[in-house]
Amino acid sequence: MCGIVGIIGQKAVATDIVDALRRLEYRGYDSAGIATVESGRLERRRAEGKLRNLEGRLLQEPLTGHTGIGHTRWATHGRPTERNAHPHMNAQVSVVHNGIIENYRELKADLTAKGYVFESDTDTEAIVHVITDELSRNDDPQEAVKNALARLQGAFALAIIFSGHDDLIMAARQGSPLAIGHGSGEMYLGSDAIALAPFTDAITYLDEGDWAVLRATGVEIFDRNGRRAD
Ligand code: GLU
Repeated sequence: MCGIVGIIGQKAVATDIVDALRRLEYRGYDSAGIATVESGRLERRRAEGKLRNLEGRLLQEPLTGHTGIGHTRWATHGRPTERNAHPHMNAQVSVVHNGIIENYRELKADLTAKGYVFESDTDTEAIVHVITDELSRNDDPQEAVKNALARLQGAFALAIIFSGHDDLIMAARQGSPLAIGHGSGEMYLGSDAIALAPFTDAITYLDEGDWAVLRATGVEIFDRNGRRAD
């Protein structure tokens, strides 16, 4: 289980996300990546190996979005390659994940039969398509994530962004920690509060089973039954 960072900022967030991931480097990792909402579209950069490789990619092809998620991966399913590095995404949804999705084989079989195309060998990519499948029924990210979470078994901390939503990060915690940092007109997410220390010391920890809706102005937290928990 490795590092997750998310930021909704007032300026480009890619550099701050990489800096925050660096504070989680002590946990070890094999690859890293970042995705942002760029004028409503999802874009990502990934690299095998150290964060400096990801920084090199970002220098070549910068990301300027004000909302983004980042990850350092410790591979459990699929080799430590760029193709398997997080974030995993399609045109609608981008996800970073710590932990293991135990029912990913069943989910993958079901989603492949429905026409979803998998591009990696990870368990994580199933989450992307489960959320997309839910969005096809109800085009509301909050409802889609709530319903998707009920279909996932295993341990996870998740950070999720959506095309067309440049003021939204959704988060979920089940068996893998997540902390939310409150800024002034900015919000932060980290798998460890240490990652967020330079940004804010106002931290809320998600409880087991909680999921959260972050926007620049604040956060709403819900428990596994969908009841407000903040
Ligand atoms: N199971 C996921 C993978 O192998 C997440 C690993 C992690 O926690 O870094 O891609």
